[in-house]
Amino acid sequence: MSKYKLASLKEDGKRTTFKVENIEIGKDFLMIAGPCSVESEEQIMEGARLAKEAGANMLRGGAFKPRTSPYDFQGLGRVGLKYLRKAGDEYDLPIITEVLDVRDIYLVSEYADVLQVGARNMQNFTLLTELGKIDKPILLKRGMNATIDEWINCAEYILKGGNNKVVLCERGIRTYETFTRNTLDLSAVVAAKELTHLPVVVDPSHATGRREMIKPMSLAAVMAGCDGLEIEEHPNPCEALSDAKQQLTGEELKDLIKAVNETLKFRESLK
Ligand code: PEP
Ligand code: MN
Repeated sequence: MSKYKLASLKEDGKRTTFKVENIEIGKDFLMIAGPCSVESEEQIMEGARLAKEAGANMLRGGAFKPRTSPYDFQGLGRVGLKYLRKAGDEYDLPIITEVLDVRDIYLVSEYADVLQVGARNMQNFTLLTELGKIDKPILLKRGMNATIDEWINCAEYILKGGNNKVVLCERGIRTYETFTRNTLDLSAVVAAKELTHLPVVVDPSHATGRREMIKPMSLAAVMAGCDGLEIEEHPNPCEALSDAKQQLTGEELKDLIKAVNETLKFRESLK
């Protein structure tokens, strides 16, 4: 038997792909962009406009936020989901947002095209089991203290329930280094692609926590073989209610996506 009953890459080398609107995840490069949090209708509308203009194909925005301090902005909840949906529809972008709690699965899946499990919830086995029962794609972030094996086993929990639309997301792990917010583990991308048939996405925003590192780390992630990127972008990063230091402006995002597309061409030329 393969190491992971359902997630393992089989001998035929067949990889999972599935459609979200007109994107075939696992085949078309997934370019997720948008603010860390949905802050207001105007903010997410403008965030979506900039993401679309820059060339992103999916919109992100947190409505339920996992914050270190209980006194920090916790997200707009249901109202945030509504604004995010409206912005996605307005700019023809499918939407991804985090589901923080098992009690919100039904609500979040009413609005979102893809549900995100955050790093802090990676091993919330009850949540994973319930997400295995729904018919929506799940983007599973790697826990900041999780090994690659633990991460893949968490994907296995979702797959076991019958939901085979799982995307893995490397978002940095905690090491002794404090210069960056986390340490981006690009070897995990290679490992996950070798071990599983699942699409693998990289989030250099949370991995580094530093605006100037997002582009170089994105290009490195592309060369490591990722199937997509998740990038935080905000109409006015300095005023963001969360993760202000790592969000890009629309112009920066446009420049990044242009470079990513060039790098993808180069990657293809090496095949
Ligand atoms: C996020 O993407 O909004 C987020 C909170 O990321 P992570 O779970 O990777 O910290
Ligand atoms: Mn964030």
